[in-house]
Amino acid sequence: MKRLVVVLVAAGGLAWWWRRRSASNAEGDTWSTPTSSAPSATYEPPKLGGDVDPELLAILACPLDKQPVTRQGNYLVCGECQRHYPIRDGIPVMLIDEALTPEQASVAPS
Ligand SMILES: [Zn+2]
Repeated sequence: MKRLVVVLVAAGGLAWWWRRRSASNAEGDTWSTPTSSAPSATYEPPKLGGDVDPELLAILACPLDKQPVTRQGNYLVCGECQRHYPIRDGIPVMLIDEALTPEQASVAPS
């Protein structure tokens, strides 16, 4: 019985070694043939606007003064400081650095 266990362990080890060997071979093959579908080839910069989940909209707040924001065109506007946070591809960008100040927003197309 003990002998059988030893044989099984040895067989398992051999299988592991063989799998490891073939895995590294397969890896070598992938390196030599790089895939042509690079994401940069089809990359497009995010567009302003898009559908924002109403539930997400309800919980969003201005990072500066924690006041609720309301949607105005392609922006979320803070009720307090009137900063305009852009919506890009349906994703609200709640960053002070990305927001338009009320002065900037008055000249930017919405
Ligand atoms: Zn604000």
